[in-house]
Amino acid sequence: MIVVLRLGHRKQRDKRVTTHCALVARAFGASKIILSGEQDEAVLESVAALSRKWGGPFSASYESNWKKAVRAFKKKGKVIHLTMYGEPFDAVAAQARKTKNVMIVIGAEKVPREMYALADYNAAVGSQPHSEVAALAVFLYELLGKAPLEKEFRGWQNKIIPSPRGKKVINKFRGVIGT
Ligand code: SAM
Repeated sequence: MIVVLRLGHRKQRDKRVTTHCALVARAFGASKIILSGEQDEAVLESVAALSRKWGGPFSASYESNWKKAVRAFKKKGKVIHLTMYGEPFDAVAAQARKTKNVMIVIGAEKVPREMYALADYNAAVGSQPHSEVAALAVFLYELLGKAPLEKEFRGWQNKIIPSPRGKKVINKFRGVIGT
């Protein structure tokens, strides 16, 4: 089980980026995202709508006390904090592959110092600042490979038929739709 913890969400500034973190988490193989920072029902609802439309299992929840979530997870698996200050991500992913349950923590603007100490690993996707969306995608791909990108999500209403041109989609109720 892979869980993503998004720290320090700010309702106005981060609504798109946090939604993109959830999109990436789901598509690249995580089964859950926990949001911390400002409570934001709109983001939780957009993640629920995404799973209704494109399938799951994938869920989102809110936790005001991120330290509690991290400490609880440490009892059953490893916690990996993605930060440009960490050690190389490929070595950390190799360690994480030995564990069944992994929590991947990503920040917004400033990550509290305690996070660096609480994490089992601080992992960098290169030692340059970039984006939590990119860092999450690259780390999940290193950890799980291509399989999640090819899996069939359960309970979908819409499913894409890969095609060289145009948009071909099967809708559960209407059959093949698209242009
Ligand atoms: N000062 C932050 C840091 O420690 O990486 C950069 C802030 S960045 C806008 C927001 C988040 O993106 C970070 O908290 C981290 O999770 C992720 N991030 C950015 N660059 C990264 C990198 N090179 N490696 C891993 N994660 C990165």
